[in-house]
Amino acid sequence: MRLGSALICSVAVALLACGGDEPSRAEPEIETVLLISIDSLRADRLGAYGHSAPTSPTFDRLAAEGLLFTRAYSTTSWTLPSHAAMLSGLDDYAHGAYEALSPISGGVMTLPLRLAKVGIKSTGFFAGPFLHPSYGFARGFEQYIDATSYGWKARGGIGKYVPHTASHQDVTNPIVLEKVAAWLDDEAAAGPDTRRRSFVFIHLWDVHYDYIPPPEYVKIFDPDYEGTLDGRGVLENPRIQPGMPARDLQHLLALYDAEIRYTDDTVARLLELFDARGMLETSAIIITSDHGEEFFDHGRFGHGLTLNEEVLRVPMIVWLAGRRPARSTTDRVVSHIDIVPTVCELFAVDCRYDGLGDSLLPDYLEESPMASRGDALAEITNPLFDLDLTARVDSEGTLLSENRSGQLTYGPFRGPGAPEGSFSVNGKKLARYPEAVREAVLGIRERSTNAREQGARIRGAEEPGDQPIDPDTLEQLEALGYLDGKERGSEGGPDATDSAPGALR
Ligand SMILES: [Zn+2]
Repeated sequence: MRLGSALICSVAVALLACGGDEPSRAEPEIETVLLISIDSLRADRLGAYGHSAPTSPTFDRLAAEGLLFTRAYSTTSWTLPSHAAMLSGLDDYAHGAYEALSPISGGVMTLPLRLAKVGIKSTGFFAGPFLHPSYGFARGFEQYIDATSYGWKARGGIGKYVPHTASHQDVTNPIVLEKVAAWLDDEAAAGPDTRRRSFVFIHLWDVHYDYIPPPEYVKIFDPDYEGTLDGRGVLENPRIQPGMPARDLQHLLALYDAEIRYTDDTVARLLELFDARGMLETSAIIITSDHGEEFFDHGRFGHGLTLNEEVLRVPMIVWLAGRRPARSTTDRVVSHIDIVPTVCELFAVDCRYDGLGDSLLPDYLEESPMASRGDALAEITNPLFDLDLTARVDSEGTLLSENRSGQLTYGPFRGPGAPEGSFSVNGKKLARYPEAVREAVLGIRERSTNAREQGARIRGAEEPGDQPIDPDTLEQLEALGYLDGKERGSEGGPDATDSAPGALR
C-alpha cells in the first residue's frame, strides 16, 4: 500500500493547492475517520519520536505525511480512563471511569452517541478487558466487536477458572485483522447505498504486556541474546525488578520493540484493507496510545502506577488523505480529550460537544492557528492502593500533586521532550516561586476543579437506574486478576504512601 503521493492530490479534500491554483478554504470531505489506539505504546519507542530501532515504518510514514504532535498526553496511565477520555472528550474526573470498577458515567454523551445523532455510524473493535461494553464503551456504536481470544462472555471458555494472565498473554492482532476484514466485507456486501459516513475505532492490544511477539520480530531487535528471560508473565517474574542485569533489561525492551513493530505491521495491513476497498482516499486517521510503559526509568515497571512522563506522554498523529499539513510537527500540549472535537470537525458536523477539548485540525490546516487550551490534565486514583495523583502539563512543564500528602512537585521543560529535574513546591509561600510555578499551581487547581464540577453536573443528570459494573463482569475481572491487588505493575496495583489530606480533594 502506498499512503503517499497517489493520495496527496486525490479526492479527499476540496482545498488542495496540488493543481497550482491558490488554496481555498473549505471543509475536508471525509467519509471515514479511523481512530487507532495502540495499548501501552510510549512515544519515545517510535522512529518519528526519535527512537533508533526500526519499530515503526508505518507510523513514521503517516507522521511524515501528516501532523505529529510531539507533546501529546494521556489523561492517566492505564487503559480504562484514557479510553473513556478518548471517546468522551472529557477529563477523567468528568467522565467518571477513573477507578477500577467505575464505568463511564451514564449521563456522558460519548462520541458515537454524538455522531449517531447527526447520522454518522460508528463501529468499534476492542481487544483488552477494560474496553468491555460493561464500562459504557459500546454506547452509540452500531457494532462494538470483541476481538479478544477468550471472548468475554464465553462462559465456558473463561469464567472463574482462567488464570489472570489470560488477557496479558492474549495475542489479538490477527483477530482484529480478521474481524475488521469481515466487517468490511459485510459492508461491501450490503451495497453502495449503505456507504454512509463512518467512524471506526480500533483498539490494538499486543504492545501491552506480556511481550510475546512472533519470533521473527524478536530477531529484528535482539538476534544475539543468549539469556533465558522471556516476555511471558512479566508482572510475576521476580527477575524483572530494579537493578536487573542490563543485558536482560535490554532484551525486555527489545521484546517490547518487537511487539511495537508487529503492531505497526498490523496497522499497515489494516490500512491495506481499507485501501483495497477504496476507502482510504476519503479517510482521516488518528493514531494514539492510551498510555506509555515504565522500564525502571524511575524505578518501576509497567503502568498504572505513576504519572511520570514515560507513561503519560503518548504518540499522536493526524493524517488526512490528500492533504499535506501546514506544518510537520507541533509542540503544542494536547490531550486525549481533543480527539472528540477533532473527529466532529473532520466530519464537519456540530456534535454539541461542550467539553474542554480543542480540535487538532487547526494545527493541521492553518498557517497561524488560534491559541488554544495548550495543557493536559491527568490523574490516577486507586483506593485499594491509597493512590491519588493529579498532574497537569503545559508548555512550561509538569506539576504533579500527590493528593494524599499534599506534596506538589514541579518539573520544568528544559528542551524538547521530558522535563529535566524537578523541585518541591511546598515549604515556601507560593509568591516566592517563579511565575511559571505559580501559574502551574493555579492551573492545576482550576483545571481539576473544572473537571470535577463538569463530572458532578453530568452525574447529576444521570437517569435513575444507571448501574455500576454488572456481576458477570466483576466475576470475569476477578478471574483475569484485575481485582486481586497483587500485580506489581498492573493497572491498579501500586504501593501506598501516606494518607494526609489531599491537596486537590
Ligand atoms: Zn492500556
